[in-house]
Amino acid sequence: MQTDELANRRWLAIPSSLRKNLEENVYCSSCGVTTIVNYYVDSEDYQIILKGHCKNCDQKVARVID
Ligand SMILES: [Zn+2]
Repeated sequence: MQTDELANRRWLAIPSSLRKNLEENVYCSSCGVTTIVNYYVDSEDYQIILKGHCKNCDQKVARVID
């Protein structure tokens, strides 16, 4: 778990209802659209990326927040 502090602050600045919506719209290669759980916040090319696991199958999933 290496949360990027700046990315984390940017993530937390997003309204919680929108964050919940984003958490629930993550693509898993096994399940399709799923919910990300146990994630941490990272960043790449100035974009926020959530990295965690699929709620259904525990496979690693990630979501870029743009
Ligand atoms: Zn899955």
